[in-house]
Amino acid sequence: MRLVVATRNQHKLGELAAVLESLELVALPDGVALPPETGTTFEQNALAKAQAAAHATSCAAIADDSGIEASALAGAPGLRSARFAGEQASDSDNLDKLLRAVARHGDRSVAYVCVLAFVAPDGAEACFEGRCEGTLALAPRGEGGFGYDPAFLPHDIGGERTIAELSPAEKHAISHRGRAARAFLAWLERRAPPP
Ligand code: IMP
Repeated sequence: MRLVVATRNQHKLGELAAVLESLELVALPDGVALPPETGTTFEQNALAKAQAAAHATSCAAIADDSGIEASALAGAPGLRSARFAGEQASDSDNLDKLLRAVARHGDRSVAYVCVLAFVAPDGAEACFEGRCEGTLALAPRGEGGFGYDPAFLPHDIGGERTIAELSPAEKHAISHRGRAARAFLAWLERRAPPP
């Protein structure tokens, strides 16, 4: 199945391509504009991006909206994870701000959340959520992944290595994005079982 991936984030594209290797993924054509992230849920934002891509390309599309939720900050930065330290903030600006904000509280519990939306040209829609629970490290470590990965200690892998210290395959096996993508694949197979 051919699917346009409605993202300009090369990290997300690479991770989705690795998990959805049985599908033919196509990068979003340059001329297609993605809508601003004005929704109040991950699901609304993911659906809006997938709808825009499906409409512009007349091809089935998927989009991921994702973020990190800190218990000490009542779920922030959440939907604002990409812009936590400002509209033009870098990944390290955002991570520094999160480390400083969480340091003022005792609770270092965090969770990654990803909603993957699928939209078909005939208007059919479906959403799949994946979560990854963890603890925020005291300082960043590791070179892999992106975003908040250098300070995210996933519980599934023992809580000692940050996601940036995992291999890509280890990250996909436990990540919010890997889980959402595998739920999507299982749904696709139920919908149209292979011959
Ligand atoms: P958005 O989905 O484009 O709104 O951006 C999601 C933001 O959440 C990213 O820019 C990262 O800051 C953060 N994020 C989402 N998934 C991951 C991940 O797998 N690793 C690290 N940071 C992530």
